[in-house]
Amino acid sequence: MTRSTLLALLAVSLVPALQIGADERFDAARERMVTRQLSSRDITDSLVLDAMRTVPRHGFVRPADVSRAYDDTPVPIGYGQTISQPYIVALMTQLIGPWAGMRVLEIGTGSGYQAAVLAEITDRVYTIEIIPELADWGEANLRRSGYDHVRVRRADGYYGWPEHGPYDAIVVTAAAGSIPPPLVDQLADGGVMVIPVGSPFMTQMLTLVRRDGDRVTTEALLPVRFVPFTRAPE
Ligand code: SAH
Repeated sequence: MTRSTLLALLAVSLVPALQIGADERFDAARERMVTRQLSSRDITDSLVLDAMRTVPRHGFVRPADVSRAYDDTPVPIGYGQTISQPYIVALMTQLIGPWAGMRVLEIGTGSGYQAAVLAEITDRVYTIEIIPELADWGEANLRRSGYDHVRVRRADGYYGWPEHGPYDAIVVTAAAGSIPPPLVDQLADGGVMVIPVGSPFMTQMLTLVRRDGDRVTTEALLPVRFVPFTRAPE
């Protein structure tokens, strides 16, 4: 084999790894996910449906789990964490009433998938992850799929990210015992936060928090199960 043939072969075998997003094998599975799990339920926002139709979810699970990336369930991502079920990601995104250009903070980067869905809608996505290895992996997943503008921070999300606030929306993807006050402080006037509230390892309530001036209201929406919101040691 000549040196140039070898190089050409190497280049071909590298292409699939580099172009996760363009892999057509998953197009049908993703379309089925959108029709059977989302639009047949109560996901009606076209920005959300388009984002879910576009983000290559198989690029946000571990290689061994690629075949179940589009299933109607959460999938483990290591370190005791999970990538949320597609419906829950879509629902949380729909609940914030998304619009192009909005400023969004996510707590709990995990795989990076929820951040990618938000990034399909707006250029201003900030996300915080407390487990350093997951922050690295989630950021790598985002970059590999072309979401270069999402900002990832390795920290305890309890304190938010005040430098980039206030936020039009905050999406918390881990279950907290109570609503962290610093996050409420970082909501813009008219901003909303969606957060699962309740005890870890039990059913929690997906809660919508709204800030109007100094007035903060909460609305319990539906029972959900999330991994716990953990805290960095003092
Ligand atoms: N949004 C993620 C879901 C990951 S599961 C996705 O789309 O894949 C929830 C994540 O929240 C876990 O990775 C967990 O480590 C993280 N987490 C829990 N408590 C946190 C905290 N206080 N600050 C930041 N991240 C936290």
